[in-house]
Amino acid sequence: MSTTEVAGYDLVVVGSGAGGGTLAHALAGRGLRILVLERGHEVPSEAENWDPAAVWQALRYRATERWVDGAGEEFQPYTHYNVGGNTKYWGSVLYRLRREDFGEIVHRDGVSPAWPITYEELAPWYERAERLYHVHGDATADPTEPPRGPFPHAPVPHAPAMVRVIEGLRAQGLHPSPLPLALVDPGLPGGCRLCNTCNSFPCRIHRKGDADVCCVRPAVQAGVTLWTGARVTRVLTTADGSRVTGVEVERDGRTLRVEAPLLVLACGAVNSAALLLRSATARHPRGLANSSGLVGRRYMAHLATMMQGFHPFRPNDTVFQKTVAINDFYLRGPGVSYPLGQIQSQGRTHGIMAKVVGDTWFRGTVTWIPVWAYDAWVARGVDWLAMSEDLPSEDNRVTLTEDGRIRLTYAPNNVGAHEQLVREATRMLKRLGFWKVMTASHRAKNTTHQCGTLVFGRDPARSVLDTWCRAHDLPNLYVVDGSFFPSSAAVNPGLTIIAQALRVADHLRRTVLRLPEDAATGTAAAHSA
Ligand SMILES: Cc1cc2nc3c(=O)[nH]c(=O)nc-3n(C[C@H](O)[C@H](O)[C@H](O)COP(=O)(O)OP(=O)(O)OC[C@H]3O[C@@H](n4cnc5c(N)ncnc54)[C@H](O)[C@@H]3O)c2cc1C
Ligand code: SF4
Repeated sequence: MSTTEVAGYDLVVVGSGAGGGTLAHALAGRGLRILVLERGHEVPSEAENWDPAAVWQALRYRATERWVDGAGEEFQPYTHYNVGGNTKYWGSVLYRLRREDFGEIVHRDGVSPAWPITYEELAPWYERAERLYHVHGDATADPTEPPRGPFPHAPVPHAPAMVRVIEGLRAQGLHPSPLPLALVDPGLPGGCRLCNTCNSFPCRIHRKGDADVCCVRPAVQAGVTLWTGARVTRVLTTADGSRVTGVEVERDGRTLRVEAPLLVLACGAVNSAALLLRSATARHPRGLANSSGLVGRRYMAHLATMMQGFHPFRPNDTVFQKTVAINDFYLRGPGVSYPLGQIQSQGRTHGIMAKVVGDTWFRGTVTWIPVWAYDAWVARGVDWLAMSEDLPSEDNRVTLTEDGRIRLTYAPNNVGAHEQLVREATRMLKRLGFWKVMTASHRAKNTTHQCGTLVFGRDPARSVLDTWCRAHDLPNLYVVDGSFFPSSAAVNPGLTIIAQALRVADHLRRTVLRLPEDAATGTAAAHSA
């Protein structure tokens, strides 16, 4: 296969999701020649976007590649390759980490390490991230809310049935608060319709606050070049291994070498680590940026259990249900000194989704239950998610198989605290009068909240990236996806990835690119790092 050389870009960004899309947008329109390489394509606007059978049964938008687990078993990861990355399917719950999450926290089964930056250092970019992604919320209601100003938009109102649930939770002495949600003009003409196919579905009308809508589209309008169907297979370095020179890309059956004085990876925590491992050279035999030996290690993903409170005589007419959080057990559980995690209301489960989960649950032995029976069941259920922190372990890691595929070796930890959270949530739902509480979990195969594989820190022996997400070993290589997390915390990761991408973009603008603060246009040339 012949190789074509491509040059002339000041900055190449690999991946167009939460990290890459945001960073490209933040540096767009300033005279820089920016190229975004995205292995997937744009998600088409089509009827299937909101069809539970297409999304949950046919897995129409899921990545089709297979990874292997630590035991060598193949599985299809819960991830998506397309413009906007996984943000196209997210539930739009955009939390700041709690202030305490930036410090060391003792958990039931171990220690959640401190971050090398404080909440206060990241707070200005959290604020910008919330504005950029249209986040709606209430800064006064959550007992764990870190110090902050008001949200850019008022919270999404609760549906009447959820108001009754919230009253019941308050009667239990709990402090339910509005979920912070990234939605464009919810409930307004032309805005988000507050429908029941949001979490795990792409938005057919582009009113979800995702990286495609909020960043990639406007960045392309501002002059950023986006190549779709462009899979980066290697990061290239100089002969002495001291700097990155560009990337090798496969596109339309051709291999291209794209040169770049400055390279930002944002492939997601698993793929960025795999890419660095795949890029090993004689100078970097263990993979690029891997002098610490930590590339791919400390993979985390949250312990998450989907829960449903069921009552046979209480039909649930709520359409948009995902508006409430309970953080009372976030910092410590009842009667214990350690954290349990968070409980969130979820989008409505559809019968077909319940059947897919049910069929897996019964391990394929009870597949005869018809969809209408599941429909009748879920019409009487209220859906929740219980989520706990996953603690970093060097044995939970991304490696490559001999034929270059991704191997994800992972054993969940902090399981006792999570089980306690599920028990608390079950008690809470029973007190609300639900007859039955159902639970289901993706367990070790949940890759949706992947993070931690290229940890950032101050000590090059104990981290891969510095506090600006620059590789300690390679001065012109940055990584801005979920891989930099030293701990997973127990809130959704997206806003923190976005805030750090904005912080890194500002750093690049000031130091490496030396662009003026407010230049919206111009011809400022990029200087190499
Ligand atoms: C169903 C679902 C619901 C979720 N809900 C929430 C939520 O409510 N709140 C929240 O905060 N988080 C949520 N998440 C998680 C959130 O989407 C991720 O944390 C976030 O998108 C990660 O950002 P990222 O930049 O690390 O990676 P991604 O957003 O996944 O972007 C990575 C991009 O890189 C591309 N890529 C990968 N490899 C290559 C390569 N070799 N060459 C070129 N391109 C490549 C991918 O195609 C992708 O576009 C959810 C995730 C899922 C799947
Ligand atoms: S209309 Fe609103 S609730 Fe429905 S998918 Fe789009 S963003 Fe989500």
